[in-house]
Amino acid sequence: MKERLYLFDTTLRDGAQTNGVDFTLADKLAIARLLDDLGIDYVEGGYPGANPTDTELFGEARGLKTKFTAFGMTRRPGRSTANDPGLAALLEAKADAICFVAKAWDFHVRVALETTEEENIASIRDSVRAARQKGREVLLDCEHFFDGYKANPQYALACAKAAFDEGARWVVLCDTNGGTLPHEVEAIVGAVVKTIPGDHVAIHAHNDTEQAVANSLAAVRAGARQIQGTLNGLGERCGNANLVSIIPTLKLKPEFSGRFDIGVSEAQLKKLAQASHMLDERLNRGSDRYAPYVGENAFATKAGIHASAIAKEPATYEHVAPESVGNRRKVLVSEQAGRSNVLAELERIGIKVGKDDRRITRLLELVKERETIGYAYEAADASFELLARRTLGTVPNYFDVTQFDINVEQRNNAKGERVTVTMAVVKVKVGDDNMISAAEGNGPVNALDLALRKDLGKYQKYIDGLTLTDYRVRILNAGTEAVTRVLIESEDENGERWTTIGVSPNIIDASFQALMDSIVYKLVKSGAPA
Ligand SMILES: [Zn+2]
Repeated sequence: MKERLYLFDTTLRDGAQTNGVDFTLADKLAIARLLDDLGIDYVEGGYPGANPTDTELFGEARGLKTKFTAFGMTRRPGRSTANDPGLAALLEAKADAICFVAKAWDFHVRVALETTEEENIASIRDSVRAARQKGREVLLDCEHFFDGYKANPQYALACAKAAFDEGARWVVLCDTNGGTLPHEVEAIVGAVVKTIPGDHVAIHAHNDTEQAVANSLAAVRAGARQIQGTLNGLGERCGNANLVSIIPTLKLKPEFSGRFDIGVSEAQLKKLAQASHMLDERLNRGSDRYAPYVGENAFATKAGIHASAIAKEPATYEHVAPESVGNRRKVLVSEQAGRSNVLAELERIGIKVGKDDRRITRLLELVKERETIGYAYEAADASFELLARRTLGTVPNYFDVTQFDINVEQRNNAKGERVTVTMAVVKVKVGDDNMISAAEGNGPVNALDLALRKDLGKYQKYIDGLTLTDYRVRILNAGTEAVTRVLIESEDENGERWTTIGVSPNIIDASFQALMDSIVYKLVKSGAPA
């Protein structure tokens, strides 16, 4: 029999402390559903009573399978539980579980809380009891537990024990400052589980020494049976333990998968990469391409000799199968590309071509030529695919842009404010039809994009679900002049993503190339007729 290990997500509470992150109610509900679909046992939604969004979030039952958890303080020192509005809001919340936060470091109790050690423990007991009486499952977050334990082990443990004795389901050992190292976590958790059974002990690690994931796993090795973390490691300062790295480690590494069951099934694990990207999408930021397991580069190989080995047997260079976490293998086609990279990539794309076909040599030459002037095909899979298809003669000429014109104007508006207005006009020829579209945008590239995708005649239906999710610009010195490299990331209605590239001394021209590639790629992919 395997032991059950529980996952607790705090993206919506601790993750909301991330610099630049501000969740709306709609964001919180969407992310809660995303986590629920992944099979996370507990989702901490926020701090009811502390702000209108969280109060509204907990104002009605949300019908999730996960245990939806409200977070808040224990009763204030010197007050009764019946006479504490903060605690009352928490007890009123439509939540399955309540996570109280309390100080577990005697120094903080005296200096920050300005109360006695005894009153702090009484507050823990009273608050846990009040929530238990309301029928809630209770967790106690022991703030600064590890630092507190180093300073005064008896007191830190007494705080945790008080909650456990009152019926708290979990005591959460928090590395609030994030400075504790894995061997210290393992030793301290090992000591705690002698007093409080490990299946009531949780770990909450911060990433200030980049070891939040390692600390979480060390705690499990020492006996803790709940891990707290966030999607993509969101969180204050350097972030919280990253559940997106922890989940596949628990599911795919025999040391953990052989001993523990978690709530995430194999089918749910396959949705992990998508969930990680969807969060970034909501936050309107680019995904980390170097993220373990789910990043675009997590299973990318560059050198020719590795690529030929991977084509023969993927396990030679991969620690887990990319499909298991919803990612995919990627063979980078770059300046140093060997024939084997190109062949492996063509096979993945589904282009059938003989190993000794002379067109492969032509394609390799083209890639090298273009990379010399600033293209980077390893970062632009869709542009590579189009280049390959064109070299092998299989991309229809769907439409021609016969002319475009962009006008940027700065003037005073009716209120006398200085505004910059951009308008693009695009002339497109589709078969015998000539179309003119115009659009205003917040900048020249945006206006050009909007105008270009406004009316493509019979092809419009294929690109309706197309959105641009990222736009990156770099100035390079290629040859004798500075050129601009534009990378555009697009997404379709099925959540599939691809990247296209454009290079030119003129940023508009480079953007136009990348936009065109993105649209043509989508038409090819959708099987649009010529
Ligand atoms: Zn925290």
